[in-house]
Amino acid sequence: MNRVYNFSAGPAILPEEVLKQAADEMLNYKNSGMSVMEMSHRSKEYEAIINGAEATLREIMEIPDNYKVLFLQGGASLQFAMIPMNLMKNKCADYINTGMWSKKAISEAKKFGTVNVIATSDDKNFTYIPDVDELSYNANADYVYFTHNNTIFGTKFTKIPKTNGIPLVSDLSSSILSEKINVSDYGVIFAGAQKNIGPAGVTVVIIREDLITDETLAGTPTMLKFKTHSDEGSMFNTPPTYGIYIAGLVFEWIKKNGGLEAMEKVNKEKAALLYDYLDSSEMFSGTANTADRSLMNVPFVSTSEDLDAKFIKEAKAAGFVNLKGHRSVGGMRASIYNAMPVQGVQALVDFMKEFEKNNK
Ligand SMILES: *Cc1c(COP(=O)(O)O)cnc(C)c1O
Repeated sequence: MNRVYNFSAGPAILPEEVLKQAADEMLNYKNSGMSVMEMSHRSKEYEAIINGAEATLREIMEIPDNYKVLFLQGGASLQFAMIPMNLMKNKCADYINTGMWSKKAISEAKKFGTVNVIATSDDKNFTYIPDVDELSYNANADYVYFTHNNTIFGTKFTKIPKTNGIPLVSDLSSSILSEKINVSDYGVIFAGAQKNIGPAGVTVVIIREDLITDETLAGTPTMLKFKTHSDEGSMFNTPPTYGIYIAGLVFEWIKKNGGLEAMEKVNKEKAALLYDYLDSSEMFSGTANTADRSLMNVPFVSTSEDLDAKFIKEAKAAGFVNLKGHRSVGGMRASIYNAMPVQGVQALVDFMKEFEKNNK
């Protein structure tokens, strides 16, 4: 059976080379006589796997020494609570609302303190990113929070807020490793793995050391303290061992393919292929504001809902799957993460051109 072009927003496409290596190593990992899934997380073999994954991630993202890398569970969604529980010392934080994932983070943070929504793009159904140069911050805000790439609405921050020393916290679930970023601009970066890192079940947290303290909100469970996991090298309890192993293979794949600079270059090429066609098409159009377009998630519509449905059905039959848009935007969405090759996007564009011609 042929593999399809999978445009899912997450869990998402993984590099075929990684899947093949995992298959090769499935029954007997490096002469251990067992699968990585069957290994003690305290074994020498597994220690090498988790330490190797962290080292490669540090190398490709150029993570400074004063940042910890944590491999946690609970998805990006658990971070919506862990961030305030660990960082809201003044019980006050500034949030930028750019869509559903920001909204969820805001409603969770409100359980723990005062949330100031300092900017929002809800007036235009989150099709744009507010101007970060226009923002003013609350003097006693413990942190400033934004969603780097908006998976559902297909927008991303091209400039990041300058917060004059207030720690910047960001959800990079759908943009981590897609382009070069300057880690030291951030206090905390977090990302669920299932978009650009690996299988669902792992959350990567990159956090500046001074933000890891014992002064969490009263009642914070041990498992929800960054310090617990930081002190134990993500081994306070059993980590998601197999997911971390796959993530490590993905980090190696990125390194081998030229690192984040090369990823960014290819991702820009892929996005341009699709956006250029959307801009020239008479049938299809992108829904996000041009200047704020995401490199990873491309929402678009045709001229009617019936035609959208016909397109999605025919695309699926031709091997282009998971193109249905999120219910809050409608239409279609093509997620073109790192593992989607240029020829996958080119093939989609060719299919769309053909569809447009046949349905005039
Ligand atoms: C997918 C996604 C989430 C949710 O991730 P879970 O791991 O399912 O909790 C949060 N934020 C963004 C930006 C996402 O793309």
